[in-house]
Amino acid sequence: MKIAIIGTGYVGLTTGACLSELGHHVACHDVNSIKIASLSRSVSPIFEPGMQELMTRSIRAGRLQFTTDLGRATRGRELVFLAVNTPSDQSGDVDLSFVFDAICSVAPFLDHQCTLVIKSTVPPGTAGRVEDMLHGELRRPDIRVASNPEFLREGQAIVDFLNPDRIVIGADDPVSAGRLSTLFKPLTDKGAPLLITRPVDAETIKYAANAFLALKIGFINNVADLCEGIGGNIDDVSRGVGLDRRIGGAFFSPGPGFGGSCFPKDTRGFAACGRAADAPQPLVDTLIMENEARKIKLATRIVSALGPSPAGARVAVLGTAFKADTDDMREAPALTIIPVLQRAGIHVTAHDPRASAAGQSVLGDVEWHADPMSAAEDADAVVILTEWKIYQRLDLGALSRRMRGRHLFDYRNLFDAEAAAMHGLHYRSLGRPPALATEAFMGGVIPVSQAAE
Ligand code: NAD
Repeated sequence: MKIAIIGTGYVGLTTGACLSELGHHVACHDVNSIKIASLSRSVSPIFEPGMQELMTRSIRAGRLQFTTDLGRATRGRELVFLAVNTPSDQSGDVDLSFVFDAICSVAPFLDHQCTLVIKSTVPPGTAGRVEDMLHGELRRPDIRVASNPEFLREGQAIVDFLNPDRIVIGADDPVSAGRLSTLFKPLTDKGAPLLITRPVDAETIKYAANAFLALKIGFINNVADLCEGIGGNIDDVSRGVGLDRRIGGAFFSPGPGFGGSCFPKDTRGFAACGRAADAPQPLVDTLIMENEARKIKLATRIVSALGPSPAGARVAVLGTAFKADTDDMREAPALTIIPVLQRAGIHVTAHDPRASAAGQSVLGDVEWHADPMSAAEDADAVVILTEWKIYQRLDLGALSRRMRGRHLFDYRNLFDAEAAAMHGLHYRSLGRPPALATEAFMGGVIPVSQAAE
């Protein structure tokens, strides 16, 4: 099929590259001419495993093109996807201005009777509003509007898109439902479940799914706190609970609070929808507050460990992306935690294998390093914020020797407490007991439980 995508960011590019891999002809449009110039040279502007190879293959096969020209993008296309950003506004409501601006721009160019598919995450009822706009002020009563929310995870976007848990189509008319079913046939033929529903329900599915996953993270963070209070071990607890198939082990590891381009804004959006519909969502309201409070609490834990006068201390932050395998810094915990350290007068050094460029544009006064060991040089404390695999492989002995202080805050539970203690580190992870090693075993090093905090 011939399709167009308006908005070529993480979702638009993944959708375009994957649909062209399935044999469709895809034109990707964006208002950002720098991005389109880069893509036209076959250079992905984002880091996403496998993206570069996938794009290059489809471009060479003539199935994937990039343009800033809306007419060129949409001519002869029966499905036009909208994958523009939908950030939060100041009050936490969803800012739909990018969606409505894009609709106004594209409306005159759409082929007769084509289907406009909203892939952006939007509040329930948005497809209906877009249809009213098109059929009214924009004078395009021939255009059909459908919803096709996206569930991919950054860092695994291609695998997720090509092996979805389900494909959700929200369409009130059979033509659009038929077109979208045909588009995704290569995936449904391989067994991907297809749910066809009304647009309002498709939109709600996306919000409710993200709110539920975020609640799972918030819940396991609370259980990790409980484990710290009672001397328990969250690794065993989360595994034991998650092995229950009704619960599952995904999104069930403690961390420094969720971030990224979706969970923070989508939980705020979901809560705002609830308020507007007179159906408050108190669980999600609480989650949003708790998640922000957690980032501050874990930052304060680092400051307190550095004694009564932390000013002048050096702290190395390893990992600034909101999670591993992405260069995305949107609402990353580092954006809250690093400024708390800096306000206490602490000098922050940082490393991230992919997000340092993005980090430099949003974080001031941070000394960036090209490798984790040099970031840790002379540090009083090292803090792990992102679960990058290269950090798991760090030589703790070498790290300890490069540091001047002893504190290792592992907010992704990458290391073993005993191993860290053996290298003389005051190791603090989330929801796990301190090292069980004895003083003799550790060669006179103070056990973590007694270390000044
Ligand atoms: P993004 O910011 O990476 O990309 C959005 C793109 O849209 C940008 O390149 C921007 O230049 C472009 N754009 C904005 N206005 C435009 C216009 N009028 N015409 C053409 N292009 C325009 O955002 P993203 O992460 O790809 O997210 C897009 C949507 O998908 C959001 O609603 C998001 O919530 C949703 N979503 C994101 C993810 C994810 O992991 N990133 C997953 C599922 C759903």
